[in-house]
This record gives sequence, C-alpha cells and structure tokens, in this order.
Amino acid sequence: MATKFADRMQTVHRSFIREILKVTEDPSIISFAGGLPNPELFPVEAMRKAASDVLAESGKEVLQYSTTEGYQPLRKFIADRYKSEKGIEVDPEDILLTTGSQQCLDLLGKVFLNSGDRVIIERPGYLGAIQSFSFFQPEFVTVGLENDGPDLNELEKILAMDKVKMFYAVPNFQNPSGLTYSAEKRKAVAELMAESDTLFIEDDPYGELRFMGEHQTPLSKGYLKDNCVLLGSFSKIAAPGFRLGWVVAESEVRDKLVIAKQASDLHTSTVSQRIMYRFMKDNDIDAHIEKIRERYRRQRETMVECIEKYFPEGVEITKPEGGMFLWITLPEGMSSMDLLDTAVAHKVAFVPGRPFYVDGSGENTFRLNFSNSDEEHIEEGIKRMADCLKDFFSAKK
Ligand code: PMP
Repeated sequence: MATKFADRMQTVHRSFIREILKVTEDPSIISFAGGLPNPELFPVEAMRKAASDVLAESGKEVLQYSTTEGYQPLRKFIADRYKSEKGIEVDPEDILLTTGSQQCLDLLGKVFLNSGDRVIIERPGYLGAIQSFSFFQPEFVTVGLENDGPDLNELEKILAMDKVKMFYAVPNFQNPSGLTYSAEKRKAVAELMAESDTLFIEDDPYGELRFMGEHQTPLSKGYLKDNCVLLGSFSKIAAPGFRLGWVVAESEVRDKLVIAKQASDLHTSTVSQRIMYRFMKDNDIDAHIEKIRERYRRQRETMVECIEKYFPEGVEITKPEGGMFLWITLPEGMSSMDLLDTAVAHKVAFVPGRPFYVDGSGENTFRLNFSNSDEEHIEEGIKRMADCLKDFFSAKK
C-alpha cells in the first residue's frame, strides 16, 4: 500500500505537538505543551444565545450553501475593526473568510508554490506553516529571530537568492518564541521586501492579545503597499472550535485564493460565520478581549516569576508582551528532547524546540504555553520543571 502514496507524503510528517498532546492526556501531568487558549474564557453562554437567535431568525439561510468569499457583514466587521483597532484601511472585498487561518497557509501554498521554490521561514518557525507548506515540496530557508525581529543581514542575503517565493512571518508574539518585531525592524523588513519580488505573508492570530507594551502596526498595509497578504483569526479572541480565519489580499491574489478554496471546501461553514457575526454584533467584544488579555498577563507574569525564582542559572527565557507562549534556551549542548523524558516522569510537559527549526538546530530550546494553565498549576508545573532541570544540569556536569 505504501508504494501508492504520492511523493509529497514522504516529506510531511504528523505534527509533533499533536503526538505530545497524546502523552499529556494523563490528567496528573501539568502540560505546558499544547497551544490552547484558556477554555474558561470561552463565551459559552453568549455563543449559545447567538446560535439560537441566528437559527430562530434565519435558519433556512444559515443552513444553506453560500459564497466562497464569505458572509459579507462579517467581512465588513473585520475591515471596520482593522480601522478602529489598528488604524489601517482594509476593503471588505479584499477579505476572504477561511476555515481557520490555518487554511490560508494551504491555499497560499497551492496558489504560489512550485516544487523547489524557496520559502523563508523564521528560525524557530510556526510548525503548522512548516507542515502546510511542506506539501508543496519547497526548499525552506531560515532567517534567525533576534529579540526585536529577524536578522536583517541574513534576510537581505536570502532575498538575493533565486526563486524566493515567499517570506512567512509571525511578527506579533510569535508561535513558538513569543517574540515581536519592533517598529524599527518592521520598517527595515518592509524596505527589504519592497525591493524584492518575494510575497510577504504576515500571520497575525495573536495581535489582539497584547497585554503589555506598545501596539505595533502590521507590516502589510502599515509599511508595505503591495506583494503582501495579512492573515487573521477568531480562534484566540473568540473560540478556535468555529474554525474561522481570514486572509486580506488584493484582487489578483484573492481571485486565485478563491479558486483554490472552491476546490478545497467550497466555502467556510455558513453556520460558524453567522453565529460568530451575531456574537460579535450583540456583545461587547472589546470587553471580552480585555478579559483575555488580563488573564493571560497574570498567567505570563506568574510563569516568568516562577522561572526566575526556581530555575537554575544558565537558562534564558523570552518575556513576551502578549500571546500564549514563552521560549526557553538551555546552555549549549543540552537536549530538550532528553529533558522531556525526565519531565514527563516528573508529570510535567513542554514542546522541545527542534521541530520548529527546519535546519535541524534548536536542540537546546523548548516552548512553554502559559494560556492554558491557571496560576496555581503554573507554579506547581514550573517547580516540577525546575527539579528536573536541576537533576539534568548536575548529570551533565
Ligand atoms: N498561525 C499561527 C502562528 C498559529 O499559532 C496558529 C494556531 N496554532 C494558526 C496560524 C492557526 O490558527 P487557526 O487555524 O485556529 O486560525
């Protein structure tokens, strides 16, 4: 049977994180491994009401097939929010609603990538993008992430190479590192991109989850004029179960994305779109997002404080100003894969860094999620991690 699989299947693997999540199903394990929002913040009652109202008032329409582009009032709502929250002009016609923002990656791959094209990805980079683009058999080229964004010298050299089709970037509270591009880096990256033919893909599912520091303008629309697309998602500000995201793209690109989407799934769930719109319209979404920010700020502060208090010397961490993750770097030569075995025995889990590096480096790094555990579990989990780290450090001496 295996001989029948397409060549492309040889280069794509099961998501490593999904595999780890199986281990952490054991309720006695404190897991910082998943990338899950805090379910206590899901607006269950308001969603129940929105669903009931929409079905009662327009049931027949809501349950019918619909257009590929998506529900117009929801596209307008997203455009209005870009204006009010970020001060940027987006034409609702340029928005294509998708089945999670994850689908945008698949569609962009279909529309732009030939086998052997180069794709620039951050080092470390988002695993879901690596998996999605891998189906199109590109050659990944990585650009290192510094505390304020990509290494500009590296980026400039890569952009001078042949067949560099796209640069996929997560400039706000990146998954996995939690890092954010500074205003200066955004400007500098935009200048480099503007001189090249490479498409800039700006993935921004976490932008609204800033709980400290200053808001940053998206590169697309803010600094770049064309040859860019901007991705967004309802997963982190409302609920991921709806599978609702979007891409902002000018008409030529959008037309091609629409064709790819028609072939994939005709359109995104009409039920999801209509309920989400109703929820957004009937509730104070700003107050809801503020609640998420406040909770994640406390969880992130607890995690950072506990790491500083309990972890041994020599461990470096990022201190994100938003989002859901922080990133740990162990001293050179240490393996976070080995550490994971010890950690699971101590009933705590995280995601080792190596899968986030397409060049096979990052052995001494790992990702911690702070959004999905309360402060008590964060403190207990970090103490358990600290115990294994101390054992691990003394065994390496
Ligand atoms: N991009 C990034 C950077 C993410 O972290 C995620 C969620 N893990 C996604 C895209 C996909 O999100 P969704 O499909 O739920 O919108």
